[in-house]
Parts: sequence; C-alpha cells; structure tokens
Amino acid sequence: MTFNPDADISGHRTRRPGRTAAIAGGGGIGILAIVALLAGPLFGIDLSGLIGGGTQDPSSAQSESTVLACDTGQQANTDDDCRMAGAQLLLDDYWAQHVEGYTPPQLYVFQGQTSTQCGTASNSVGPFYCPPEQGVYIDPDFFQIMREQFDASAGELAQLYIVGHEWGHHIQNITGVMDAYPNNGTGPESNGVRIELQADCYAGAWLADVAELKDPDGRNYLEPPTEAQLTDALNAAMAVGDDHIQEQSGFVNPESWTHGSSDQRQGWFASGYQNGLGSCDTFAVEGSRL
Ligand SMILES: [Zn+2]
Repeated sequence: MTFNPDADISGHRTRRPGRTAAIAGGGGIGILAIVALLAGPLFGIDLSGLIGGGTQDPSSAQSESTVLACDTGQQANTDDDCRMAGAQLLLDDYWAQHVEGYTPPQLYVFQGQTSTQCGTASNSVGPFYCPPEQGVYIDPDFFQIMREQFDASAGELAQLYIVGHEWGHHIQNITGVMDAYPNNGTGPESNGVRIELQADCYAGAWLADVAELKDPDGRNYLEPPTEAQLTDALNAAMAVGDDHIQEQSGFVNPESWTHGSSDQRQGWFASGYQNGLGSCDTFAVEGSRL
C-alpha cells in the first residue's frame, strides 16, 4: 500500500526527540543489541523490564523535540519519517471514529537512542508504546534490522502494520484494557501475549479500513493494498513471532513468550483485517484457540 502522491498529510503532530541518552549498563553495545533483539519487546509496551529503569530524562526528550514537516503522500512514499507521520494521521482518524473520547498518543520518530519515561529507546529494541506518557516511539532504522535479522522485507504495508500495532497499545491504554488485564507472567496464554495479539488484530482492522479514508479534498490517502503487500505484512507478523525469534538462538521456550508465536500473530492480524474490530477480543478466547 502506498500513499496517493497528491494526498494531503499535513495534519500531523509527529515529533523528533531533540536529545539522545546514553544506554544504561555496561558491556559491549553489540552484545547489548543482540540481547535486546532476543529478549526485548519487539513492538513492546515498555522497556523498564529490559533495562531496569534505564536513564530517564523524559522532560529533555520532549522539551527539545521538533515537529516533522510532511505535507504530501509523495513524501510519505519516499521518506520513512513521513510515512510514519502519514500513518499517524490515518490512525488518529480511524480511532477517533471507533473510540468515544479518543485522545491521540504522541508519536516520536527518532534515530539511534532516546530517553523516555519507560527507559531508553533504541532501534535494536524495536518500536514500542510507553503508557505513562502515552507515547509511541519508532526508529525507522528498525525496519532495516527486520530485513537483515528477521527475514522480513518490511515494506510499506508491513511498516504500517507495525505502527498500527503500537497504536493498538494506546487504544488498550485509554480504554482500560491494560488495567483490566495486568501482567501475569509470560507464556502463550498470558495476558501479555493476549495484549500483543489484540494489538495485531487492531492493526489488521485499521489497515482493512484505511484504504477508504479520504483527505480534506476528497482524495484517497492510500492506494489499495496489493496481494504482495498483504503477504509482506503477514510476513512481518511471522518474523516477530516469539518462536521465530527464539529459533534464531536455537531454543524455543513457549513459557517465556511475551508476544505470541508467528502463527498467533499472523492469525490475529488476519482476523482483524478480514473481520474487523469486533473480532479482536483476545481475552474472550480460550488459550488453546488463541
Ligand atoms: Zn506490542
């Protein structure tokens, strides 16, 4: 799915954090990055468990941030940052229609590392949502990591799926799902996995609907997705499955899963895409059917 080059995407509030922070802890950065890839929250919710609190200085990250200048679909097609900004616009539009009293999260597009209220964000950890500040953090360099280390092509629609997934966590936050289903450990039937699979489902529901959205001048924001792009998005969901990631280290342990298997993630994304938001109650499903 690509943006209509003439579409007006100027109504966004994407920010680039103005300051980066040193990553917490010792050891080689390469080792840390590998550990983060294997154990970190790929499309996760918060980083505090990963780095033990980290180097937090959220005020600086936000006070010095700058707003990205993205105006047209053409820019969203050629510039990763603007693609994220375009996605933000379409996500806010969609969710404002589906959640009463919707309030948007803040999207931060950063490069390298940046400090957040949930710890230090880096591209090796992947995009994530930080509930206390209602912030979505994405470093587009992560898409390159997906290509190189997770056998995913991470094309345009796959990137939109990933942003849509993080928005799903924001929806879970503002609608009370996170509070209703607190962390109860890991494993394929845990609340954490159900939270992640629901976010995948939300992303699918959004993507199925988003092709119809129009800009203020009546132009479609997006061109309809192709079969190849849909396959690519499903491939991204496969690539970030816990079992697929664990296979890379040679040991698959379902009891340690935090996000769900490749099959689960693909299945719930497809469920949302085909059947809409009404099919996304992952908490109503018995564990064996997740
Ligand atoms: Zn997630």
